Amino acid sequence: MKEYFGNIFTAFSTIFIGMKVTFKHLFIPAVTIQYPEVRPKLPERERNRLYVNMDDCIGCDQCSRACPVSCITIETVKSIPGEDLGKTSNGKKKALWVTRFDIDFAKCCYCQLCVFPCPTECIYMTDVYEFSEFERNKLVYDFVTLTPQEREEKSVNYQKFIAEKEAEKLKAAAEKAATPTEDKKPENQ
Ligand code: SF4
Ligand code: SF4
Repeated sequence: MKEYFGNIFTAFSTIFIGMKVTFKHLFIPAVTIQYPEVRPKLPERERNRLYVNMDDCIGCDQCSRACPVSCITIETVKSIPGEDLGKTSNGKKKALWVTRFDIDFAKCCYCQLCVFPCPTECIYMTDVYEFSEFERNKLVYDFVTLTPQEREEKSVNYQKFIAEKEAEKLKAAAEKAATPTEDKKPENQ
């Protein structure tokens, strides 16, 4: 009999404790928000999706080398005489065409290590954090502003320039070899 009433007491007391917690929370302000209708204010130094301002990128590759997960892929082509790439906004002369600048955000861990070594401060974190995709390859962002034709053209022009230089060098070497030197001149001259 004692155990019977003890169990009833335990049941009521635990219900009371549970209800006390429930009622208490009715008067505590909610900590959850109605996302996406309501958005939290981001901290000042929040790390989200990166952006690259290609107008200021000199293709130095420092960001890519600093990346611990190798998610930045950069390809460049040297400019040839007569091409003026201009300067960055902090006065650095540009000498390389950046023909590929991909960041794979499926791999990026938002460590920001790529941002610090950039000499022109053209790679930086934005406040964009909503960019989920159903396909992984859509998370590879291409920042290059040149069209595919222009990228191809820069590469072809550079190859052509190198080939011409090589041909000139070979021609000069052949001409030099064909010119008789003082000690090789015939004795009757
Ligand atoms: S934030 Fe980190 S992981 Fe992402 S691209 Fe930069 S260095 Fe790589
Ligand atoms: S470090 Fe800056 S300038 Fe150099 S390749 Fe990266 S984004 Fe471009």
